[in-house]
Amino acid sequence: MASLLGWWEQLTGATCPGCGQPLGQPVLCANCRALLVPRHLPHFVYLGDYKRFGPLAKALKYQGRRELALFLGQQIALGVKQAEWGLDSVTAVPTLLHRKVLRGYNQAELLAQAVAKELHIPYQSLLERTAWEPSQTRKTLHQRLELSEATFRATRRVKGIWLLVDDVLTTGATIERARRALLEAGAARVYGAAIAVKSPHHLARYSL
Ligand SMILES: [Zn+2]
Repeated sequence: MASLLGWWEQLTGATCPGCGQPLGQPVLCANCRALLVPRHLPHFVYLGDYKRFGPLAKALKYQGRRELALFLGQQIALGVKQAEWGLDSVTAVPTLLHRKVLRGYNQAELLAQAVAKELHIPYQSLLERTAWEPSQTRKTLHQRLELSEATFRATRRVKGIWLLVDDVLTTGATIERARRALLEAGAARVYGAAIAVKSPHHLARYSL
């Protein structure tokens, strides 16, 4: 096995985006693959712990991103199939526009498109994120938190059952706001999915 890793390393110079070890096979090492399996909350599917797999989201941004999005999307889709939610559409938590312009794409969107493809249901770009006003820096923390409630809006009316995808979740507050925007736009139900979650117990409290 060591010689195989060395061979791949020599050939590609690649390290695993999940753990930083020399990469013995394309995209993601065997250890990380074994750990990235669907985990289920009542209305949510994710693949791993934030501490272990948070960096994977960065890798999705900067290296091997298409292949990685495809692999992670397939794993999430597997979990979604197991949950039998009867989804109609998939969408992503949007990033700030200027970040998308800088990077050329939104990694949550890339992931959501891979999930949709695997599930054979349409991906739809739906939510918009509103940038914070510069004047907000002068407001109190409480005011900023209140304002942050309004950072998502849907671009049109929708119906049916939706899957909302983000890359990683820390408190879950962001995806909760995005979910509310989807419900306000007419979605009957909204389920969620991500690569990694920091506090699953916190997330489970949301009445998704
Ligand atoms: Zn790894």
